[in-house]
Parts: sequence; structure tokens; C-alpha cells
Amino acid sequence: MSDLSPEQKDLQKLAFEFARDVVRPKAPHHDETGEWPADILKQGWERGLMNIHVPEDCGGLGLGTFEGTLMDEEIGWGCTGIATAMTANSLAQVPVIVAGSDAQKKKWLGRFSEAPLLCSYAVTEPGAGSDVAGIKTTALKKGDKYLCNGSKMWITGAGHADWFFVLAKTDPNAGHKGMTGFIVDAKLPGITIGKKENNMGQRCSDTRGVTFEDVEIPADCLLGNEGEGFKIAMRAFDHTRPLVAAAAVGLGRAALEHAVSYAKERKAFGGPISQFQGISFMISDMATKVEAGRLLVHKSAREIDAGRRNTLYAAMAKRFAADSCMEIATDAVQVFGGNGFNKEYPVEKLMRDAKIMQIYEGTSQIQRVIIARELFAK
Ligand SMILES: Cc1cc2nc3c(=O)[nH]c(=O)nc-3n(C[C@H](O)[C@H](O)[C@H](O)COP(=O)(O)OP(=O)(O)OC[C@H]3O[C@@H](n4cnc5c(N)ncnc54)[C@H](O)[C@@H]3O)c2cc1C
Repeated sequence: MSDLSPEQKDLQKLAFEFARDVVRPKAPHHDETGEWPADILKQGWERGLMNIHVPEDCGGLGLGTFEGTLMDEEIGWGCTGIATAMTANSLAQVPVIVAGSDAQKKKWLGRFSEAPLLCSYAVTEPGAGSDVAGIKTTALKKGDKYLCNGSKMWITGAGHADWFFVLAKTDPNAGHKGMTGFIVDAKLPGITIGKKENNMGQRCSDTRGVTFEDVEIPADCLLGNEGEGFKIAMRAFDHTRPLVAAAAVGLGRAALEHAVSYAKERKAFGGPISQFQGISFMISDMATKVEAGRLLVHKSAREIDAGRRNTLYAAMAKRFAADSCMEIATDAVQVFGGNGFNKEYPVEKLMRDAKIMQIYEGTSQIQRVIIARELFAK
């Protein structure tokens, strides 16, 4: 992009080179084995590509959502499984950035500049995903502590987390107004981390259940005030949906590149398959979706960085980029024909990896619910 500042161009280049030289070569191995990419995360951290949103006075770079989208598109281009493992920190850090006290920020965010640590956003439960207000985990006040009980499900990075952002009910009878956000040290007694889930795509990203049994959370780990948790958890999405959407654009871009080069080389009926309108129109649509997705991602990121409410654009960007990424990856498999269905070629992995983009951080249906709600509220 030509309208990037020199610093933004440098960040984009750094992320691209990291994706090309470190992420891509190892991606098939981590997909096949599901092995956690610890070494890649360490290298990303050493290059300053993790925790870029942590404020400067907490030892971070204090960069905006827009810079995050530049970086996440590149790493998503490399491998969205590794990108999810690497960038999931943002989702748990943002509630602390937007609602934490200065002391909480220093204590819980400051440590990310000292070591390649991880933190996880623990909201979803076995019985409540899209319907966040339906969570059952409780944190009931007992003296100067909150006693936490309940189970979380599908928590990215849980097996490696230093701490969790946990949404729990401090007033179980007050619906979403009874929900409160906490920073929970992963070492507290009573926390049990489940086994790594064996997922269809993004296989090296670590997703697990987390159980809390009489976990005593110190009162100074409460974010904001009691009853503000739902608002904080939803506000975090305004920052992080553009980031997830950017990784989806990166995946789509990768699938498009593979499809273009394959269509130029593969011969049928006496010439390259790119000569067939059925193939070239499919590829034209793939390229258009990548560009349109990126524009929405940048719009949604620039809105929030300018201090404006971006809920509508963040939902649009996430919905469009996720659905497009699934369509593009599916079409890339089609362009590859039988080879597309085979693990020797790169596109079947992209198709498997793409699917979760339409599910996590709010499904594509939920994004549409949000878009409609925002439009009708005007
Ligand atoms: C790999 C992976 C990583 C994840 N990481 C995290 C994480 O780090 N932290 C975390 O808290 N959660 C995480 N999640 C959970 C994820 O956000 C939820 O799975 C997602 O929000 C959907 O919730 P659900 O699975 O309960 O589906 P459900 O809510 O049961 O939805 C089932 C279907 O019904 C549809 N639906 C539901 N409500 C409506 C509605 N009102 N209108 C129209 N359609 C509707 C959905 O779109 C979906 O198609 C992760 C999930 C996965 C699979």
C-alpha cells in the first residue's frame, strides 16, 4: 500500500519476511503433527512481532489496530494456524488495555516484554458460545476474594497461558448485567487445563477446555467494576475482529497466489487451464474478494484507531473476510482439480484452515446479527 508511513511499511516488510522465511517452511509440519510452534513464537517475539498493542509505558510498542492488521495479514498469509497461536494474546490483552487500571496494566501487560508469554481469552463455555449472556461460570464475592467455579471451552492458547481473561457471573440473576471480567493467574489452585483438541484446521493452535473449581481470584484482579464484564468482552471484539479478518485476507491471498501459478502451468485440452473462462473468472472473483476484504479490514481498523465506534465495520470486515476466505480456499482447491484434494499440494490445508474463520470471534451469522442491529439502531 502506498499510503503507509515508513514505519508501517517496515512493520509490514518485517512480518512478510518472517512469514516467508520462518512460518511458511514449517507450516506443513505443524499442520501434520499439530505440534505447538514454540520456536516460531519465540522468534516472532524476538523480532518484536508479538504484543505490538501493549502500551509503551508497559514496555510494549503501543501500536494501533491498523498496524496489527498489516502484520496479521502477512502472518496469516504464512499460516493461519501459527498466526492464531501467535496473535491470540491480543484478544486477552485488549480487555486489560481498555478497562484495566494503571497498576493492572503494569502488572499483567508489562511481563510480555520480558519473555514470550501467552494469555488467553476465556469466555466460551460448553453450553454458551454465540449466546455469551448464557454463560454459567460464577465468581462470587467472599471477603477480599471471588470464588470462581465453572468450565470454559475452546480456549485458544490455554495450555500455554500465563493468565486468562475470564468472564464470570458475579450476580447470576442479572443476565449480562451480572457479568464481570477478571484477570486470572493460570497458576492459581483449582484450575484444570483440558487436553488439546484435535481440530480440522489450524491444527497447531492450542485449544482446550479450562475448569475452575473454587478458584480464589484476588479482588484486585477484577477489571473495571462488577457488572461491566459483558461490555468489556464485547468492546474487545471491536479491536480484535479487524485483526482476525486481516489473517483471513492473508489466507485468501495465499490461496489466490497458488491458484494463479497453478492455472498458468497446468495444461488441459492443449493449453494452460488459465485460458478457460470457467477458471479465469473464478480467479478474478478470488482476487476481487481479497482486495475488497482488505479495504473493509483497513476501514474498520482506522475507525477504531481514530477513536470512533467501529462495531459495524468490525463485524462487516470479519463477516466478509471470513466468508471470502472460505470461498477463495474452496475455489483454489477446484482450480487444482484432483491435486487440490491431496496433501502434497498446499491448498487443501488452506481450505481446512479457512473454516474456523467463519466460527471463532463470533460466527458469520452473529456478525450479520450485529450488522443488522447497528443499522436498525440508527
Ligand atoms: C478453534 C477454536 C478456537 C476458539 N478460541 C476461543 C477463545 O480463545 N476464547 C473463547 O472464549 N472462545 C473461543 N472459541 C469459541 C468460539 O468463539 C465459539 O465456538 C463461537 O462463538 C460459536 O459458539 P458455539 O460453538 O457455541 O456455537 P453456537 O453458538 O452453538 O452456534 C451454533 C450455530 O448456530 C448459529 N447461531 C447461534 N446463534 C444465532 C443467532 N442468534 N442467529 C443466527 N444464527 C445463530 C451459529 O452461527 C452457528 O452456526 C473458539 C472456537 C474454536 C472452534
